[in-house]
Amino acid sequence: MTWYLRSVAATYPNLTALYSIGTSVQGRELWVLVLSSSPYRPIVGQPNVKYVGNMHGNEAVGREMLLHLIQHLVTQYQHDTYVRWLLDNTRIHIMPSLNPDGFSVAKEGTCQGGQGRYNSQGFDLNRNFPDYFKSSNKNSQAETEAVKLWIARIQFVISANLHGGALVASYPFDNSPNTRPGTEDCHRKPLCGVFQQFYSSPSLTPDDDVFRHLASTYSFNHATMHLGLPCKPGASAFPNGTTNGAQWYPLTGGMQDYHYVWHGCMDITLEISCCKYPRETKLRDFWRDNKKALVRYLGEVHRGVRGFVMDPQGNPIEDAALKITGRDVGFTSTKYGEYWRVLLPGSYKIEAYAEGFLPRQDEFYVEESNPTLLNITLFPDHRNESPSPPSSSGGRPAGGLMSAASSDVVAHQEIRRRPVNFVGGPNTLQGSAPQREGALGGIANLLGSVSSRVSNFFSSLG
Ligand SMILES: [Zn+2]
Repeated sequence: MTWYLRSVAATYPNLTALYSIGTSVQGRELWVLVLSSSPYRPIVGQPNVKYVGNMHGNEAVGREMLLHLIQHLVTQYQHDTYVRWLLDNTRIHIMPSLNPDGFSVAKEGTCQGGQGRYNSQGFDLNRNFPDYFKSSNKNSQAETEAVKLWIARIQFVISANLHGGALVASYPFDNSPNTRPGTEDCHRKPLCGVFQQFYSSPSLTPDDDVFRHLASTYSFNHATMHLGLPCKPGASAFPNGTTNGAQWYPLTGGMQDYHYVWHGCMDITLEISCCKYPRETKLRDFWRDNKKALVRYLGEVHRGVRGFVMDPQGNPIEDAALKITGRDVGFTSTKYGEYWRVLLPGSYKIEAYAEGFLPRQDEFYVEESNPTLLNITLFPDHRNESPSPPSSSGGRPAGGLMSAASSDVVAHQEIRRRPVNFVGGPNTLQGSAPQREGALGGIANLLGSVSSRVSNFFSSLG
């Protein structure tokens, strides 16, 4: 795989760049290939998307499909108008294997079982992330830490992680505040999974409509996933080939919930093969079934709202806390002030908060055909500098701000207590909000702990 990725990067330097986000426990590089019409110079305003495969080392189909996808994108750029549009407008990051150590001990032709599932220390990487709903005290693994630093540094808008053992697109939340004892990982115990669906309840995000849409985009562009057929008699069947993660079976420490809650990235889990590690001869069929879905899913980043958060002079505001009103999982602006949010057609309000600025709310409308462009100007908050408090109407620029000065102040004070990446939360009472250092400490750590080679890659590719 390393040889292949290096050769693609060498053959297509105008479309690809190879970087590593760190190494596995046993020292294997965690490669990422970025694909874009400007791979070495990120274009300001272009959204980042990604795929991660093989985090369970014995689930090999995702890894192989991502290598096929790379080959497809670089060879079709000149011939396929959709592929060309995608690479001209999107930065696509592909990590074929998050668990190369596990893969190295997995056995081809093994459809079930767990040999190679875990990393070399015996940890399940999809149970190794901080969890919003439940305390999780597992030792954070090298592979997990690499992903945490990666997604703290690059703001991914949508993504997916590829698995095997079922055929379904699963969306957050994977965990819920009311998991029944003994039902975790139920699908891996005989018969438990058959009954699980009858008594487990969904754990829905405030962006449930978007997540259902994203999962359906994959399943309906897949040759058979949307049929929702069980992998074998007695196994789970899924209407339309999609499911809420917790409704299928709840799990603690999953990667997709972490992406969404901590970083506002809409990540879903794609189970793309009933057999975890089929014979090589089957790969042609898997590629035929997944090709269109893999390509079309990435294009979904180009719907919703996007723009820049700026001060009155037009300077970008980094790390502004943003949320869509009524959808209390937040996201932030980048160092260039860029922001993106995937939304279905409709009318919305967006709220923006930044240290030293007055909070602001803007209304906008999303259409099916194109993303809405909405720049947000934040005005400095001079109220704390004034020797006497300003009158309710004094010092506030007209237009765009929240209606009453008093609610303005309340909102502003409230946001200072909130972590940047999580404003509010659908289940705030049941869970504990993530620590602020999860995001901000990550960037600081990145500078200190990741090798300069990787940092250089990040700064050139971010
Ligand atoms: Zn898996």
